[in-house]
Amino acid sequence: MSGSAYLATQSQLGRSEGSGDITRRSLMDELVVRGVRITSQRRILVGIIQDSPRHLDAAKLLELAQKKDPEIDRATVYRTISLLKKQGLIDELDLMHLEGEKHYYEVKTNRDHCHIACFQCGAILEYASASFDRLKMEIAKESGFQIRAARLELGGFCKRCRKVA
Ligand SMILES: [Zn+2]
Ligand SMILES: [Zn+2]
Repeated sequence: MSGSAYLATQSQLGRSEGSGDITRRSLMDELVVRGVRITSQRRILVGIIQDSPRHLDAAKLLELAQKKDPEIDRATVYRTISLLKKQGLIDELDLMHLEGEKHYYEVKTNRDHCHIACFQCGAILEYASASFDRLKMEIAKESGFQIRAARLELGGFCKRCRKVA
């Protein structure tokens, strides 16, 4: 029944590795195509977001960026995030508020995917499914909306934590 569903590997606030189904586009390429001016600080931030194996929040992004260029400040981080959001290149997630009010950012993928968060260990699974795609089409059709973003987050206990509980 759910044969078309894709279940990514699980990692601590992480994301799937080597997932054939979910792919991320190149932020740099997209920015160049859109004629956005890219400063060296922006280049560093964009590179970190692109290559991160985890869903990053702004504080973590700042921390990683300052290792490469100590001059990068919070304002630059927030400006870059808002630029990427405005360009529709990244998604903002709250991941079930597992860690308070933090927001996480990730490069938009070829397919919208759901996030499943474990309340116990914080693992995040990324899940793309044909049913989710169909639901979006149905909503678009019924509402007359052109859907540009879709987000579905679920929370519970992962396989490992269920066994312990
Ligand atoms: Zn867990
Ligand atoms: Zn994701």
